[in-house]
Order: sequence, then C-alpha cells, then structure tokens
Amino acid sequence: MNFPLAHRVSGFGLTIFSEMSRLAAEHGAVNLGQGFPDFDGPEPAKDAASAAIRAGQNQYAPTTGTPALRQAIARHARRFYGQDLDPEAEITVTSGATEAMLAAFLGLLNPGDEVVMFEPYFDSYVPHCAMVGAIPRLVPLRPQAKADGAIEWVFDPDELAAAFNARTRLCLLNTPHNPTGKVFSEAELRLIAELCQRWDVLALSDEVYEHLVYPGARHTRLAALPGMAERTLTVGSSGKIFNFTGWKIGWAIGPAALSLGVRRAHQYITFCSATPLQGAVAAALDLDDEYYQALAADYTGKRDYLTGVLRAAGLRVSVPQGTYFCMADFSPLGFDGDDVDFCRWLTTAIGVAAIPASAMYAEAAKPLARHWARFAFCKRPETLAAAAERLQRLRR
Ligand code: GLN
Repeated sequence: MNFPLAHRVSGFGLTIFSEMSRLAAEHGAVNLGQGFPDFDGPEPAKDAASAAIRAGQNQYAPTTGTPALRQAIARHARRFYGQDLDPEAEITVTSGATEAMLAAFLGLLNPGDEVVMFEPYFDSYVPHCAMVGAIPRLVPLRPQAKADGAIEWVFDPDELAAAFNARTRLCLLNTPHNPTGKVFSEAELRLIAELCQRWDVLALSDEVYEHLVYPGARHTRLAALPGMAERTLTVGSSGKIFNFTGWKIGWAIGPAALSLGVRRAHQYITFCSATPLQGAVAAALDLDDEYYQALAADYTGKRDYLTGVLRAAGLRVSVPQGTYFCMADFSPLGFDGDDVDFCRWLTTAIGVAAIPASAMYAEAAKPLARHWARFAFCKRPETLAAAAERLQRLRR
C-alpha cells in the first residue's frame, strides 16, 4: 500500500531536536542539544498542579484559557512591562508557544503572504510558513567579532528593509533569540518597528526567553515601542519561565483583532490547554520578583560555566546575552567537516550532543553556519560538569 504524505509535510524531516536527542540516548551522550531543563520548576507550582488534579479540575477549560490564568498573564505583563491588557479579549492560552505561533499563522495569514524573519530561526517557523502557504523572507544574522573579540550577531539594515514589500503581511521576531542568544537592542527594534509601520504589517514577537536575560543586556518588548501595541502579538511560555517545558502552557497576547485570529484557529487545533496546569501556571506567574531574579542569576552562572568550558576546550564562543543556548565556532579545532558532521562526531565519539546551527538556516545561508554548534546549558551543575569532563578531550 502506498499512502503518500500530504504535500504540506512531505518535505519535512524529523526535527533536529528529536534527531539529536535520539542520537544522544543511543550513545549515552550528555544531551546539550535539545533545550529542556533536567531539573524541575518551582515547588508551589507543582503543588498547585497536583492539588488541582485532586480537586477535580480535570475537564475542558474555556477555549481561550481559564480566567485565573488570563488574569495572571495580564498581571505579569503589567508588572514587567507596564502593558495593559484585557484578559477577556487580548489574551489567549495555548498548548505551548509553538501552538500560539501556528494559531497566529493560521488565523492571520493567507497563502502567498510574505513573512519577514531573521535566520537562524527557531526550527518550526519555516514549516509553519509551509503549512499555511506563506513565504518566508529571510534576513541573516551574521556573527561579527568586536574589537575585544566578543561576538555579536548583527543584521544589515538595508537587507532587512529590502525584505519588505507590498506582499509582506507579517514580521516575525524572536528576542531573546534562539539559537544565537542575541537580545535585540532597542535601536534595532526601533528599526524593525519603523519598517512594520511603513509597510503596515503585523508583528509576531516570540519572547519566550523574556526572563532569561543576563547582566548587561535588557529585554525590550516589541509591543512596547511607539505604534507597535496595535499591530503586535507577543508570545510567551511557562515552559521557559518556570522550567516546565513538558507542561506545554503558552500564550499569545495582543490587540483584540489579532487575538481573534489566534482564537479562531486555536479552538479548532486543540480547543483548550490542560486545565489543572493552567491554575498552576497562574500561581507561578504571581511568584514574587525574587523568583524571577533568582532564575536569571542561576542561568547566568550556568552560562558562565559552560562558556568557560567550551573556551577551555578550544572553541570560539559567542557569549549569549539571553536564552539558555550558547553558539560556539569549532573551526579552531581544525575538525574536517561541517557542523552536521561535527555534532554527530561530538555526540558519538566525545559523548556530548549539540545542535548543528545550519539546521536553523535555510539552504542559501547554511554556509554561514558551517562551523557553528549550539549548546544548551539548562542543566544541573553535575550534568554540565559531566559534559565538561568529556569536552576536555577535544584539547587532545
Ligand atoms: N526550544 C527547544 C530548543 O530550541 C526545543 C524545542 C523542541 O524540541 N521542539 O532546543
């Protein structure tokens, strides 16, 4: 029997994250590939989740999310960004940020619409375009060494401007940026905002790493820039704020007209997200400022540790300003092969899994990533130490 795949998915392979996690498991490698913490989130949230299950909160939630969670998301947006949102019309709870992104695409884009985005990009963005028939217009971020040797990921403003045209419907931003760890500066965001307004396009801003920002960097919400609130949907995630990636509770927030697009699609994708987890995330969002400060401080320590380890192993490291990923250039090691070869060899021969950066660039720009691998540092100290011990072998 021959049942060919639908055209919309026939070009897709297995995601690079699943592929590298599988390879890591097969070879007993320390998995610094797929970004998921190997530790749990806050106890009060876990308690709230089990209490909710035991208290019988086990039936469908309202499709837009429980009122308690939507109100907590509104309080969070007010506390951290001074943003005023109507939980009734401007907040939609989804099954993870990835669903929020797809629902926004399905609800707001037509086939042939163009989407401006940077590359490297999070791996679902281009398949999401393919699934709705939208056309990605990719603008490369390039690694650039500053005078002190530090690496910055920069785009060419003219290249960005040239990506916009009359068919552009959406500008997709991700800050803090996976995989580069770049936190877009306010000046860069102003440029993006200005283009969105000049071409009258929507913005979809994936800000799931909003609280993972390190000393010296500052996260600016695209929606907070002048003229952007009315055209921007912002996507957030409890997976990233509370280290519960398996809970799959995310959200999209923004003006009623744009939220309506998300809601119309979301009701027919999952209808609603897990009820008892929504109450738990609501409780977690209300944790005091110390929780959020400790989260960033803890990850700063992990970042400093892993960047030190990679540097000591002989790689040229791009120190992330945000996220829990670190990009490293392995060309100083003299490895004979590209990033895919390197990551396979690193996993199978050295015992540490990483993600080949080219998986996050489209074909034309893959050469930019030929020598780059992404390492995740959302791991317990002992996991990072085990990786460090193995990575020392690169020196020899
Ligand atoms: N966001 C995580 C990463 O970038 C993993 C996502 C996934 O596996 N889909 O590694």
